[in-house]
Amino acid sequence: MILLKGKNTAEKIKSGIARELESLHGTVPAVSLVRVGEKPEDLAYEKSAVKYLEGLGFHVVTRSFPAEITDGEFQNEFLKINRDPSVNGILLFLPLPRTLDSKKITGMTDPDKDLDGIHPVNIAKVFSGDDTGFAPCTAEAVIRILKSENIPVAGKNVTVVGRSMVVGRPLSMLFLRENATVTVCHTKTEDLKAECRRADILVAAAGKAKMLNGDFVKKGAVVIDVGINMGDDGKLCGDVDTDSLEGIASMVTPVPGGVGTVTNAVLAEHLMRAFRKQEKP
Ligand code: NDP
Repeated sequence: MILLKGKNTAEKIKSGIARELESLHGTVPAVSLVRVGEKPEDLAYEKSAVKYLEGLGFHVVTRSFPAEITDGEFQNEFLKINRDPSVNGILLFLPLPRTLDSKKITGMTDPDKDLDGIHPVNIAKVFSGDDTGFAPCTAEAVIRILKSENIPVAGKNVTVVGRSMVVGRPLSMLFLRENATVTVCHTKTEDLKAECRRADILVAAAGKAKMLNGDFVKKGAVVIDVGINMGDDGKLCGDVDTDSLEGIASMVTPVPGGVGTVTNAVLAEHLMRAFRKQEKP
């Protein structure tokens, strides 16, 4: 079984970005990372995104607001960030506290600065197979790994476990755009094992530590583990019990070091594209 690390794909994306940045002759695209509250998962993502984006040479501004901020106050602040011409891209950490009107705020994001594809226009583009918008970075990262590793997708049976708006649903649509035959599973799926065992490519995006083991995997299948969970041993782990796939799966992405590694690279690429979209002719 081959361990499909994200590093190779991320490096390819990174070298493309480095070339583009060089061609800007000193102009530096800027991103605003917007966080409300202090959730550990947001802080962890923020830390890795800042390190990655600054490491590439982008200008990163982190804007954090207290969890108690009122809806009106946050909308005002968000609008200012959104309209700031020096900000080329925005990454808003979701979900927002329930006191804030998430739907309204995501709808306020400038679609051309919307790095993680949360605005309805970008969502609609993903669902209609139009690649001119921004797809959610993690969903796109999965497709990028498969393409960069030359793993065929067209005509294959793909099962995606999870139907969230950030991973499962958009990813299913991206697979459809690549001409896969897609099955989407969730908590009401009657026979999860059977749906998974039909898959040539199985994607785990349920957020349940090691919930899928070798019994769920067809011989020779490629397994992509999107999950990031804290295991009983206090270590990070995915949704897949990787050791149990030995002799069954042909390839599996590790956690950490798999999809997450590529997600940051896709985020950086989206920032570059956002900058290009806003360039004056
Ligand atoms: P959500 O909790 O929003 O969605 C989970 C989905 O999985 C839901 O659709 C849910 O079904 C389904 N699900 C949960 N348990 C089961 C089960 N036992 N059987 C079948 N389906 C199940 O999670 P996210 O989509 O936000 O994230 C999923 C995972 O991906 C998490 O571990 C998260 O940390 C990770 N993640 C990783 C990223 C990366 O860069 N690698 C980035 C973003 C997320 P239902 O709809 O019926 O409730």
